[in-house]
Amino acid sequence: MQTTDDQELEVWIDQGLCTGDGICAQYAPEVFELDVDGLAYVKDEDDELVQEPGAAVRVPLTILRDVVDSAQECPGDCIHVRRASDTVEIYGPDAESA
Ligand code: SF4
Repeated sequence: MQTTDDQELEVWIDQGLCTGDGICAQYAPEVFELDVDGLAYVKDEDDELVQEPGAAVRVPLTILRDVVDSAQECPGDCIHVRRASDTVEIYGPDAESA
C-alpha cells in the first residue's frame, strides 16, 4: 500500500445508501460507528461522531487496511476513501480502479 505523508487519506460515508448492517463498525470501530438512527458515521480523533453530510475524517495508517476492507465489503457501496490533498477517491465506488 503506497501511502506517504503527502498522501494522507480520509474517509466519509454516504448515509443515503447505508444499509445499517454494521460491517464497517466491526472492521474498523476506531473510525466507524452506528448511531441511534441505524446508520453508520465516521468518527473524529476525539471519538466523536461526525454527522454533517459528506464530512470526512483522517484515516490512521495503522487501520488503513481495515478501512479499505470496509469500503470493499460495504453492501451499500457508500464508504469513500480519498486522498486528502486533492480529494481523489482511492478506494470505494468512485475509485478509478479497484
Ligand atoms: S458497511 Fe456500509 S452499508 Fe454497512 S453500515 Fe457500514 S457504511 Fe453502512
